[in-house]
Amino acid sequence: MAPPMSASTLITVLRAEGVIVKTPRSGWATHERDDETGKAFGPVYGVLIHHTAGHDDFHVVYDGNSALPGPRAHVYINKLGEALMCSAGRANHAGGGDPRVLTEVMNESYGTRPTPTEYHDGSAGAADGNDPFYGFECENLGDGKDPWPRVQYVAMVKATVAILRHYGWTEKSAIGHLEWSNWKVDPRGFSMVQFRADVKAALALPAGKWNAGTDNDGGDSTVALEKADIHNIWYADEIPAQVPPYNNSDYFEADGKTVKNGTWTVKYTLYTIVRAGREALAKLTALLDDTASIKSSLSSLEATGLTEAQMDALATKVADKLAARLKD
Ligand SMILES: [Zn+2]
Repeated sequence: MAPPMSASTLITVLRAEGVIVKTPRSGWATHERDDETGKAFGPVYGVLIHHTAGHDDFHVVYDGNSALPGPRAHVYINKLGEALMCSAGRANHAGGGDPRVLTEVMNESYGTRPTPTEYHDGSAGAADGNDPFYGFECENLGDGKDPWPRVQYVAMVKATVAILRHYGWTEKSAIGHLEWSNWKVDPRGFSMVQFRADVKAALALPAGKWNAGTDNDGGDSTVALEKADIHNIWYADEIPAQVPPYNNSDYFEADGKTVKNGTWTVKYTLYTIVRAGREALAKLTALLDDTASIKSSLSSLEATGLTEAQMDALATKVADKLAARLKD
């Protein structure tokens, strides 16, 4: 059992761990749900990890909407690995969950995973997760394909470690939303078992030392790309698309005008370059064939004895024709 940190302490511990902290909204330190719900944040027992299911959605997490008002997390961690501060009080991120999991987190008494949750927000006997958990909303589509950049993952580990180290907790005080509520799938794209192993390794080192550019996390800190990472990068829809004809098949809405998907995957980008190159080569070959046949026609015309003026007129016509073909 522990009281929540003040806003300034929260920033201090995050920075001590090497997290890049940003405060896009000046009112973040008093932005909370304590007054509105009549429930004060805390005592705190752990950290809950989420994916946002979107991109560039800091404002969604910070402001929320009428159905689920903000703040929807304490910290928003973007794909650049920056921690954008949202709240130091009660936040709308966890909802109801499994009271057995809460006990296991409080006592840090589970093995590699907590007991599979059988509760969700609104189910009878569910425990309120917004009181005991810090929440990190991490920018990711959550479709299982959107990659987690290493710099973002490292920031997530470090931010988690910052809170755990402050309270003297172990890695077992960090769980995923999916381990709290059986309605949730987040975070998707990495395993919470691996995440806790990384948190454990970071906790074993002095603050800010884990993955700091040296071989001190039990492996190569540059981290080789795994097959799954390459697959994710290959299919990540992130490269700005070109206008038609070389657009995605889903570039436009059904109306053929409104841009629906203005981005490409690496796969599509390479495919398009190859296709454009082949088409250019085919056009050039056809043009060379045309030029050869025109040349032979001209030499046979010369043999028929045209006047200079006739030859000139013919040359102009030929030039026009070639120009028209080049335009295609
Ligand atoms: Zn969540």
